[in-house]
Parts: sequence; C-alpha cells; structure tokens
Amino acid sequence: MQRYMIMSRPDENSRRLEEKTHKILAENHYILDKENPEVVFVIGGDGTFLYAVHQYVQKLQNLKFYGIHTGTLGFYTDYQEADYDEFMDTFLRGAYMEISYPLLCVHVGDNTYHALNEARIENVTRTQTMNVWLDDVFLEVFRGTGLCVSTQLGSTAYNRSLGGAVIQEGTNIIQLTEIAGIHHSQYRSLGSPLVMNENITVHLQSTDFRGAKLGVDSDIYPIDDLHEIIIRKDPEHQVKMLKGRKVSYFTRLKTLF
Ligand code: NAD
Repeated sequence: MQRYMIMSRPDENSRRLEEKTHKILAENHYILDKENPEVVFVIGGDGTFLYAVHQYVQKLQNLKFYGIHTGTLGFYTDYQEADYDEFMDTFLRGAYMEISYPLLCVHVGDNTYHALNEARIENVTRTQTMNVWLDDVFLEVFRGTGLCVSTQLGSTAYNRSLGGAVIQEGTNIIQLTEIAGIHHSQYRSLGSPLVMNENITVHLQSTDFRGAKLGVDSDIYPIDDLHEIIIRKDPEHQVKMLKGRKVSYFTRLKTLF
C-alpha cells in the first residue's frame, strides 16, 4: 500500500494532524493520490468517516480506511489524538488487521445509493403510508413519520435514538425501526424494532411519497415522484477498515453516553 489520501474534519486540530501525517508518510515514500488511493486516513469523528466512505464509494474494492478520532473514541476509529504515535507506527509496521463491514444498497428509481449506518424514509409534512415487504412476504401497512433500516454499525446512530437495539460488533443483522408510527384502534403496525438476518430484502412501497425524503447516512434525497424503495445488503461492496488494536465493543459503547 503506497498510495494514500487523508480526509480530515475542517478544524484546526484535525488539520494539524493531517499536516503531520503527510510529512511522516512522505518521509516513508508514500505517494499522495487523491483519485486512486489504496489507503484513506480519516482524521476527525464518525461523521468524517461516513463522509470519507461516501467520497470513495465507487472505489471501495481496492481501498482501506484507517481512522483516528480528534474527539472522544468513535465507532469508526480506535485511536484518539494522544495515541497518534502508536497510530502511525502501527500503520508503518503493517501491524494491523483488516476488518470488512457490509454496506446497504438502496435502489430507488434509476439510482442506487450506499449506506454504512442506515437508510431511512421520513415524511415530516404529513402522515406517510407505506406497504412493507420482507423478501416476498407482505408484513404490514405502516402509517407514521417513517421507517429506518440500519446496519449493525449504524445501530448506535439514528437507530438508537428511535429506540432500536444496540447490536454488538460481529453480529450480522439489519434492523427495521419505526419513526413515530401511528398505533390505535384503526391503524396498527408491528411497533417494535425488528432485528433480521442481514440477507433479508426490505421493500417499501407507497402510492404517494410526496414530501418524503430518503436519508442515506449524511445525505438526503427527495423521492416525491417515486413509489418504491428496495433496501438490501450489498453483496459487492464492503468497507475495509484497518484495526491496529483491539478495543472492546462495550468500551466503545460506554464512551457514547
Ligand atoms: P454528524 O457527523 O454530526 O453525526 C451525527 C451524530 O451521529 C454524531 O454525534 C456522530 O458521532 C454520531 N454517529 C454517526 N454515526 C454513528 C454510529 N455509527 N454510531 C454512533 N454514533 C454515530 O452528522 P452526519 O454526518 O450528518 O451524521 C449522519 C448520521 O447522523 C446518520 O447516519 C444518522 O445515523 C445520524 N442521525 C441521527 C439522528 C438522531 O439520532 N436523531 C438524526 C439524524 C441523523
């Protein structure tokens, strides 16, 4: 791995570490290659990591991400600023493991998007009605603000705010959670978060998505004129992360709250 890129959060501290990292990598004969890097250093937080993955989502096959957090410990990074020397030394010695995480692919109209945390349909302008299929089984008619389909990694993000379960790393699932579902004597949907095998395809269909938005991690897309969204694990794209140290999932979780 000789070609690299650095993506950092636009704050003074992250930029300073970026400069330092360029210098060390140049001294070790690494070449800056924005277009076709083999490794992307991510300096910042979970949001920076999501941004970096989305920038290179079409080039994931030959790419690895290696992150350092300039705030508290994140879900996508194992090192904090105080660990910087160890972070770089581990990389230069190649003393890391490579771990792959699945992405969701979201098919809507002629477009395909990829999600590392979650894909969600939200309509804050009126009650959204949607038919929900899991593979070819019709589950329910959902009425409310929306639905969220999260990965294991995304279980601590929006999913958690929606009352979804936090899922330990290494557990291969997807999770469907409601966003303000309406439940009364006339309308009823499952209500509780549904944790499923990661190979299930979620199919959401509506005759009217006017006012609704599709959220894919940090990105938002209008879907007013569309009628169906298909969400499933992407069999072809995975995000490969370099891990130099073993941080317990529960240690990471404790830093979140
Ligand atoms: P951001 O960078 O400000 O991130 C938002 C917050 O989510 C930050 O505190 C970040 O650390 C945290 N976060 C992101 N991914 C996480 C993960 N996998 N586990 C734990 N925390 C995580 O803003 P952004 O770039 O727009 O982030 C997009 C993410 O924000 C979305 O993927 C979604 O999960 C999350 N989000 C959460 C809510 C909510 O909780 N009410 C609402 C909208 C979006």
